[in-house]
Amino acid sequence: MRLKLLLPDVKTAEFSQPKQCPRTGCAGKRFYPRQMVGKKIVDTQYKEVSAWRYQCAKCGCTFRVYPKGVNHKQTSMRVQGMAVMLYILGLSYGAVELVLVSLGVGIGKTSVYRAVQSTAEKVPGMKQKNLLTGYKTKAVGADVTSVRCNGKWVQLGISVDAVNGMVLSIDKLPGEDAEQLKAWLVPILDAMDADVLVTDDADGFKKVSDETGRSQQVCKSHVARNTDTLVDELSAWIASNQDRSLEVLGISPEQALLDLSKLKEMIHTRIPEEQSLLEAMYLRYANARKPSIGNKHDVAYRMRNLFMDRWNLWPRLTFYRTWRDEYGHRMIDGTNNHCERSIGWWIKERYRSMRGYKREQSVLNVSRLIAFAGSRRARGLNLADLIA
Ligand SMILES: [Zn+2]
Repeated sequence: MRLKLLLPDVKTAEFSQPKQCPRTGCAGKRFYPRQMVGKKIVDTQYKEVSAWRYQCAKCGCTFRVYPKGVNHKQTSMRVQGMAVMLYILGLSYGAVELVLVSLGVGIGKTSVYRAVQSTAEKVPGMKQKNLLTGYKTKAVGADVTSVRCNGKWVQLGISVDAVNGMVLSIDKLPGEDAEQLKAWLVPILDAMDADVLVTDDADGFKKVSDETGRSQQVCKSHVARNTDTLVDELSAWIASNQDRSLEVLGISPEQALLDLSKLKEMIHTRIPEEQSLLEAMYLRYANARKPSIGNKHDVAYRMRNLFMDRWNLWPRLTFYRTWRDEYGHRMIDGTNNHCERSIGWWIKERYRSMRGYKREQSVLNVSRLIAFAGSRRARGLNLADLIA
């Protein structure tokens, strides 16, 4: 687990002064301390702590102020934090109960569940409709993944800051066609004030970039992998001499193999200025005829499509090479690795040890909580900030 979680501590003598009357509608800011009262708690060190009873000078209502690490709940914040930590480590709600009870901490699995969900709900940002306020980035990376929930697949969209990898949001998607991706992504791109979208090769994402006028980087690793596979497959066909379609165009097998190996080389060197070479290669195959319905696509037609696609894709594939910050440094590396890593680390890792989620809201809550902890792994996530 790549997380650093800091547990809340209990300090029986540390109290913070009340600042605002807890009664809704009362603006009272002055309070009289009335008495100390005992409170039984479930904790690893204390069985009971003292709380202060205060009275509001304005409305007369009384309320309690608890010492650091204790709130109105029966379990201390330390125990709630331990429950969250053990759950994130991969234990089921019931297993967390077993571990804590064996350590002498009486907590039921329903309380474990509530501690996890209520902590997760306090994670700031991480939602398309409620992004981290004030945060901006020039490039947003996006990807789609799915998890099992109650016997069904649930599609999740993840958006990240493509420059530093921080997760911006994890959202449930109704589907992944172009319109659905657009409805999800455009508000995020607008809120981040982003100029660039980083994605895999899916057509839906290309449409989002085209229709919003934003530049796009298509993941170079995806394209390289797909191209290598296609080139190898086509080269093997040509070498086996089973297809007459190139002959019809007057192209020799040697020429076709040369074009394919050149494409393979180019897709790995990715020189922005080489787009015209692809155009020239495409033109060689441009007259290949589409096979009639029901017939297999022949080599010539497949080569025509491959060269046309890569020629058109070239600006999106090589964008990262020319996009630089004010100091001349590259801003992105041309891959969508930040998204893929976030899916693997923050959405799938906890999920791996489970048989799937039962509730869609839990999928989102838990994934967001883990991703949020992940974004704070350098200094550690203070669980007290979310549990308080
Ligand atoms: Zn009051």
